[in-house]
Amino acid sequence: MKSNEGKIRLGIAKCLLGEKVRYDGSQKLDRYLRDTLGQYVEWVPVCPEVETGMPIPREAVRLVGDLDSPRLVGRQSGEDWTDRMQTWGKKRLEQLQKDDLCGYVFKYGSPSSGMARVKVYNDKGMPRHDGRGMWAAMVMDAFPHLPFEDDGRLHDPRLRENFISRVFTLKRWRDIMAGGYSAGKLVEFHTRHKMLIMAHNVELYRAMGKLVAKAGEAGSDELFEDYFNTLFKALSYKHTVKKNVNVLEHAMGYFKKDLTSAEKAELLELFGQYKTGLVPLVVPVTMINHYVRKYDKEYLAKQYYLNPYPAELMLRNQV
Ligand code: SF4
Repeated sequence: MKSNEGKIRLGIAKCLLGEKVRYDGSQKLDRYLRDTLGQYVEWVPVCPEVETGMPIPREAVRLVGDLDSPRLVGRQSGEDWTDRMQTWGKKRLEQLQKDDLCGYVFKYGSPSSGMARVKVYNDKGMPRHDGRGMWAAMVMDAFPHLPFEDDGRLHDPRLRENFISRVFTLKRWRDIMAGGYSAGKLVEFHTRHKMLIMAHNVELYRAMGKLVAKAGEAGSDELFEDYFNTLFKALSYKHTVKKNVNVLEHAMGYFKKDLTSAEKAELLELFGQYKTGLVPLVVPVTMINHYVRKYDKEYLAKQYYLNPYPAELMLRNQV
């Protein structure tokens, strides 16, 4: 599913791609991000410390002071880098605006690139663990609707699947809405994402259906933005085995008149095996996809739930 309309661009902490930019001259290569996800996205690497003018190697920095507006200082020297990073950061954000990012992968724990749970030291030298890295905070505040994760959280298969699903959904939204909003585009987008949204949050799925119905009568920009915000709110809810089984059973309903008794029994058995953790989600989804092709179900064939991102990413093999 490499999009014709250009690759998905994601911001990333540069050391995660294996670049030796850390304070001690090392790197923090994440092979999955570079070698697997990297086949489908174009990385926009940023090392805020080096781009701010810090050398390699360098003195490590840390956050000190107020949790909401900490200062970035050298660990031993106390040299204050705050103003330099913020001045550089404002310009860098302008560049990122043009890159049309669909997400950002931060570096766990970094005082510059960490998105959450970063240590902020008080004047007695005691750390709190709920800060944000200085650059990460600037990015998150400037692009509040982007999917964000850090390398640590991405080791959790569910969080990884959810992040990448949101990234691909955002790209599809941007592609379809390029050139301006229209009720027709919204109906098409919503129709193809129905099952995907249902797998995350049924209540919000219903609310979105009402917005789509209204778009035909009086589709203001506000309504489309409302839909977009609700979409990403819905997708931020994790899907669960129970929610997936509901969606799979819903999909099975489309084959009521097609499947033989043996095929129905086999499918239900697979759902049961998925429920008990014997097989991952990819197994029942693959079977549904097989029947979609066999019985030529056009509506299901268009559902992104059944093919939300390239299968080679193997995200549903562990959830
Ligand atoms: S500032 Fe960010 S990108 Fe640079 S080395 Fe530290 S964590 Fe990596």
